[in-house]
Amino acid sequence: MIDPQVARSLAGAAPRSFWLDQPDAPEPLPALTGNVTADLAIVGGGFTGLWTALLARERDPSLDVVLVEARTVGWAASGRNGGFCSASLTHGLANGLARFPAEMPLLERLGAQNLREIGETIASRGIDCDFSLTGELAFATAPWQAEGLADEAAAARALGHDVEVLDATAARGELDSPLFAGGLRYAGGNAMVEPGRLAWGLRDACLRAGVRIYENTPARSLTAAGAGLSLTTPYGSVRAGRVALGTGAFRPLLRRIGSYVLPVWDYALMTEPLTAAQLASLGWKDRRGASDLGNQFHYFRLTRDDRILWGGYDAVYYNGGRIHEEQAQRPQTFAKLAEQFFATFPQLADGGVSFSHAWGGVIDTCSRFCPFFGTAYGGRLAYAAGYTGLGVGATRFAAQVLLDLLEKSDSERTRLTLVTTKPIPFPPEPLRSAVVQLTRSSLARADRNEGRRDGWLRLLDRLGLGFDS
Ligand SMILES: Cc1cc2nc3c(=O)[nH]c(=O)nc-3n(C[C@H](O)[C@H](O)[C@H](O)COP(=O)(O)OP(=O)(O)OC[C@H]3O[C@@H](n4cnc5c(N)ncnc54)[C@H](O)[C@@H]3O)c2cc1C
Repeated sequence: MIDPQVARSLAGAAPRSFWLDQPDAPEPLPALTGNVTADLAIVGGGFTGLWTALLARERDPSLDVVLVEARTVGWAASGRNGGFCSASLTHGLANGLARFPAEMPLLERLGAQNLREIGETIASRGIDCDFSLTGELAFATAPWQAEGLADEAAAARALGHDVEVLDATAARGELDSPLFAGGLRYAGGNAMVEPGRLAWGLRDACLRAGVRIYENTPARSLTAAGAGLSLTTPYGSVRAGRVALGTGAFRPLLRRIGSYVLPVWDYALMTEPLTAAQLASLGWKDRRGASDLGNQFHYFRLTRDDRILWGGYDAVYYNGGRIHEEQAQRPQTFAKLAEQFFATFPQLADGGVSFSHAWGGVIDTCSRFCPFFGTAYGGRLAYAAGYTGLGVGATRFAAQVLLDLLEKSDSERTRLTLVTTKPIPFPPEPLRSAVVQLTRSSLARADRNEGRRDGWLRLLDRLGLGFDS
């Protein structure tokens, strides 16, 4: 039974991403008709594809680049996310240290450089996406979550981060919630961004750089064609010397990618703009993006017009892994998120805050939680996927890797273990669904039992496997 106040708060929520529901959303570009050729064809108009196209033209302005997008640029994860643009290339420090301990100093340096260059491109191309280097906050909402904070801070400092451990009072001094029992404040390493506008701005930058973009143009098949490759689309084809795939969680054109990627739905709510008094009741210092530290965690942030985005917690895999747009609406998850929002910020419940938007998006989860890369067709095709919920920044780094791989250049990037190794593949269905559902219920149980991990999670930990949003 949904609490009537929670139900009321959701009653007016538009069933679409706030970031894409803007009056100045660009008109779709025409679909491809006829047969075209290019030096480089890119499949997918999310951040991976857009950065690949733009950087390809920056590297070589004479390169003829075509990008095909099944729907419209940024409509999928890239236009639906929380807008945390992290320097981390490894889905956070702990995951990176567990998997690539020797390479972490280099990965952190490359990640910091990547974030800096994202900011530089946004500034030099005049992309109006409210990019702001806020750093970030992580809040413990249970004593067991606060226990590891000092160790995490020490590990972060050893890698050059400016991080402070917060006790309960200091945590509530950053952002006031009765649930916050401590936390970490990172002064750098993360920017907040409006992801829809970033995608549209990159689309515009690509067009101005001479990239040909075709929207509503799904690539239906990929075949070798002479010295290059050919993509078939509904009303035409692209023949190109090189192809880059940035197709996220969607059914890949190259079958082998599918064994590494699990399409997991993540959901978010956006409030109406807060009044000055509501905002003041939060005492949200420096507009830092924030998250809490459960296995099933929330992320939350302010927008430039003082709304709060509140997302996460449920990470839903629909058995069989087929992606349907109806799955973007999940009332039971929205109700749970709203209830948790008001429990976290009871001062906003009293003020009658309601939600203007509620949506979901698909994350390309892989078993190591951070991107993987590969080539096929003798190096004529390269792909990147598997960002698992932290791809806003990492997609630009991945684009550089894709171009390095296609150029067959031996770079600092292509030598990384992150690039040369793959995650452990997921088992095929129906075992895949059983494993995912077992893992989800074990994670929820760990959150209820002071973080204690059951035998199944300990086994996954030992194997270096897991399941995360
Ligand atoms: C709710 C939610 C919250 C998130 N929050 C954050 C966050 O705060 N910070 C963060 O770093 N990350 C976050 N993420 C993850 C982040 O959004 C992604 O990692 C990132 O956007 C991935 O970009 P992409 O280009 O690889 O994939 P996508 O944005 O999914 O783009 C893939 C594109 O490929 C197209 N495509 C697929 N197949 C074909 C085909 N055959 N032909 C043509 N086109 C095709 C699709 O239509 C799609 O547009 C979140 C994701 C979600 C869903």
